[in-house]
Amino acid sequence: MGYSEIICQICGVTFAIARIRTPQEPPTAAWDNHGTTGGGFVMCWAPDEDDFDDENSDGNVSGGCMIAVRADRDHEDGDLLALSQHPEEEMYPEDMRGVSKQDRAKILKRLGDLEKKYCLEHVAGPECGAGDGYHGDRISVEEMRTCSTMQGLVAKPPNWEPEDGDEDFERSGQYFLSGLVDSITNVDGLYSESSYPKRHGCDNTLPVTRHRDIAEDRYHVDFYSIPIHPACLESFKRATLRRYDRVDVGAFIQWWEVDSDEKSPVPIEDEDVRAGRSQWWQHFQGSEYLAANPCFVPNLDKGFLPMAPHTAGHEELFSSLPSEIRSLIFNHLSLEDISNLLLASPLSNRPSQNELRRRLILEWPWLWEAWSKLEYSVWVGPTARDLRESVKPPGKQIIVSDTDVVNWGSVFRWITKQRSNGELKGLKNRQRIWKRCEEMLDIVDTLRKYAGIGEETPVLLDG
Ligand SMILES: [Zn+2]
Ligand SMILES: [Zn+2]
Repeated sequence: MGYSEIICQICGVTFAIARIRTPQEPPTAAWDNHGTTGGGFVMCWAPDEDDFDDENSDGNVSGGCMIAVRADRDHEDGDLLALSQHPEEEMYPEDMRGVSKQDRAKILKRLGDLEKKYCLEHVAGPECGAGDGYHGDRISVEEMRTCSTMQGLVAKPPNWEPEDGDEDFERSGQYFLSGLVDSITNVDGLYSESSYPKRHGCDNTLPVTRHRDIAEDRYHVDFYSIPIHPACLESFKRATLRRYDRVDVGAFIQWWEVDSDEKSPVPIEDEDVRAGRSQWWQHFQGSEYLAANPCFVPNLDKGFLPMAPHTAGHEELFSSLPSEIRSLIFNHLSLEDISNLLLASPLSNRPSQNELRRRLILEWPWLWEAWSKLEYSVWVGPTARDLRESVKPPGKQIIVSDTDVVNWGSVFRWITKQRSNGELKGLKNRQRIWKRCEEMLDIVDTLRKYAGIGEETPVLLDG
């Protein structure tokens, strides 16, 4: 079987996403499509003198990109290191037309020699247009760090026993969670890495994207799993919480068993995913948000500011109105209008803030910080390597313990402003994933109605 990538069954994006670092970033900020912890990086070839001689040449069309030498240090040559364009690493510009002919000859010889034994790394310049990784300037390591970490929803064997740390749905449903895998990228590499930790006796699962592979035991393995990003499952849980007032992972299983196939899930309107999907993922500029963790969004917390204390004598306009009238007026205003009105009177009172929050939840249901205190699962933040090495990953869940203290106008304005600047990429991804979950749940609702079973009935259809 040829190379084919495994796709998260909730968000529709591959686990094989690469990142090309900028010269300012350390080597750990770069990885290839074998994942964040595989140790690989996007490579390049050593140029030769012809590339720079051609009169009308734009050279190796270069966006200011660099070539980093990732060879052992004892292969260093003091003379050459002095020619490096980077203070700490041996790094040369891809376009060496600006380097003296003499120095260039030395560098090219060195790169040519090294290339026989080592890999040279492509480092992104400001105008880098490489499509084999996302550009380090356009999405941070922190946002991307779990994009290649996969978890499996594993079909339970008949002798399955509960274990410490099981979530409720694992005990009650037909699937349980595997540990994490950082670098399963394609069907050929399936057995390259075990999941960690071993759960329920299982550390080797076969991810499949069609239910009939499980139902028919197509590959004769002990454990099959549905591949997902842990953060996508958290998003799905909240979509069910919003719709059914309870977490219902079974709804995802029900959707998947009926509706998944190789092509799904790529909704027509999910244009960036459709464009990126190919035998190898296409890292188009502007689609970096697809790799951003939708749960831990760096800088989102900066929008959740407390209200200024209320001072007598500074009543805002709306506080003096009866609540029905105020609601009536607010219903005719956009979120932006309301937020601006409250900004004009910063000491706005609680009823107006509550109204704004109500509208926020209605229009941005995916901003679950506004309505849910449900904690993230332990699987959301770490990579498998973090767990193996007991490293605490960055990122802290925002839990609003008292919605009355938050200035919802500032939440709205912060998010709107940041997003208009292309920031908070994880939130953009979350909004997209939420929509996808809603569509799955619409199908589930139809299935349940058709099957004549209530929402409380166990949701597994017989495979
Ligand atoms: Zn996903
Ligand atoms: Zn480049």
